[in-house]
Amino acid sequence: MCGIIGYTGPQRCLPILIDGLRRMEYRGYDSAGVAIINGKGVVVKKDVGKIAALEALVDADPPHGTIGIAHTRWATHGEPSQINSHPHLDCRGHFAVVHNGIIENNESLRETLKAKGHKFRSETDTEVLSHLIEEYWDGSLEKAVAAALRLVEGTYGIAVVSDLDPDKVVGARKGSPLVVGVGNGENFIASDVSAMLAHTKQVVYLGDEEMVILTPRGYRTQTLNEIPVDREIEEITWELSQIEKGGFPHFMLKEIFEQPKCIQNAIRGRLMEQTGEAHLGGLNLTDDELRSVERIVMLACGTSWHAAMIGEYMLEEYCRIPVEVEYASEFRYRNPVIGPNDLVIVISQSGETADTLAAMREAQRRGARALGICNTVGSTIAREADGGIYIHAGPEIGVASTKAFTSQVAVLAVFTLHLAHVRGMNPEVNQELIHELKAIPAKIERILKSDAQIVEIAKMFQKTTNCLYLGRGYNFPVALEGALKLKEISYVHAEGYPAAEMKHGPIALIDEKMPVVFLCTRDSAYDKVLNNMSEVRARRGRIIAIATEGDESVRERADQVIWIPHTIDPLVPLLSVVPLQLLSYHVATLRGCNVDQPRNLAKSVTVE
Ligand code: GLU
Repeated sequence: MCGIIGYTGPQRCLPILIDGLRRMEYRGYDSAGVAIINGKGVVVKKDVGKIAALEALVDADPPHGTIGIAHTRWATHGEPSQINSHPHLDCRGHFAVVHNGIIENNESLRETLKAKGHKFRSETDTEVLSHLIEEYWDGSLEKAVAAALRLVEGTYGIAVVSDLDPDKVVGARKGSPLVVGVGNGENFIASDVSAMLAHTKQVVYLGDEEMVILTPRGYRTQTLNEIPVDREIEEITWELSQIEKGGFPHFMLKEIFEQPKCIQNAIRGRLMEQTGEAHLGGLNLTDDELRSVERIVMLACGTSWHAAMIGEYMLEEYCRIPVEVEYASEFRYRNPVIGPNDLVIVISQSGETADTLAAMREAQRRGARALGICNTVGSTIAREADGGIYIHAGPEIGVASTKAFTSQVAVLAVFTLHLAHVRGMNPEVNQELIHELKAIPAKIERILKSDAQIVEIAKMFQKTTNCLYLGRGYNFPVALEGALKLKEISYVHAEGYPAAEMKHGPIALIDEKMPVVFLCTRDSAYDKVLNNMSEVRARRGRIIAIATEGDESVRERADQVIWIPHTIDPLVPLLSVVPLQLLSYHVATLRGCNVDQPRNLAKSVTVE
């Protein structure tokens, strides 16, 4: 998910590799490393921390050589550590591999390789690749890489070098990006054009499940079955500054648009539609233990707390188990009733949120088991929880959480499926949930196409000072999240309410200046929300509705409608939140706010 750069040519490659890594720093990472062929063998230097730390490491004893690969890692399997950093070597140190993505069947491959005598050093999924290549080595690097990749399930962008086939860099991709940079007497490979733009603007985009073999003299592309493919050279016309955010003006917008991919990553390899089961590797809870849980308590802060609320609704509906959601900061300072029959689920993007961590420790102290739902691998919560689920959203750089929120909700749906299955719920209901969950990424793609319309709506509300967000059922937490997003980045005061509660107070605020955002999708609360909408209209409030495509009744009542595709109730939040993220983003940029670093806010809240 982070960065790869590779070089083969006449120049000393170390400075080119380090510079390439620096150009990809914006993506966020936890470790960095290089592997260079120096005429005698493969030299690997790597460590946790920033690229500056890697530079200090190589400065002490700079590896010379003109062929090499380098990597920044965003850990998914195994905490950030020197050993887990890339490149990874095989048993004898001839093949160095860097990898972005996740090898889903790494556990079974590892067992098979161990049985053949391979010795593993790291906890990463990636290391199976170096050993597989070693296993298949028969004089040609590309043949060994192709044979290895034919066994692999999951996503990858990889680059491989070997002192046994010394002037080549072999690359391949599936799911994760990889681009070839074509130079004059030298060639490059990188996961991001920005890493090699200082050297060439001629690039070749690799297709999924394709490989490239680079030498200083040229390159060729082929399938994993070694059938040649023709790929045209394209000329890059962008500026460096544009590409660093993937062409988006802000990280937040880039991350909003990444959501289809992130949800795919969150559910990939975890769902079995035929049986209605979900597979979650790191729970550390047996089925019997899961069956004996009497109550679930979810602890979180901010956006994660909203995701937890959606999880509460899902778990109660599908698993018929009582669930409570609490602000972590409140939980830890009262005298909560919690014990060994409770399962605690803590949710934190960074895995370092101070209140959430302290609340988890308190619950564990009182005998409860704790599961962590985090994005950052090896974070404190991930380490101290009794088990957990990573959301695999990749680094989230925008301070206001977007893709982590939807990935948390997706993972909560997967956990719900697992628990429902273990507790013997109706498999057909599960199958429907799995089927619908798999369709979500394409539906989000459709919503993202409304971006231009949302800009126009944002212009109308640019000067507003207050805003109300209303929803019921699964859309109530979305109303809270929509209001929070607007507050966070545009500094407009906004409140989220359950739509029916409006009559118990906030209705007093409604006049012709008050924008009211209604979440009125075709779900079980639909008729009621429609009535609430009529109540606001009667008081001349200005209505922006998020509604299911083609709904005429909403169109008649609202001033503006943003359409979303239909899905089943528990998954509606994954769709209905997206236009709200875009709306707050555009209101904030129109108001000239710094959306990626809003005032007073921190990305990882490590103080109480
Ligand atoms: N899954 C690999 C690891 O955890 C690669 C992560 C990345 O994309 O940086 O090491």
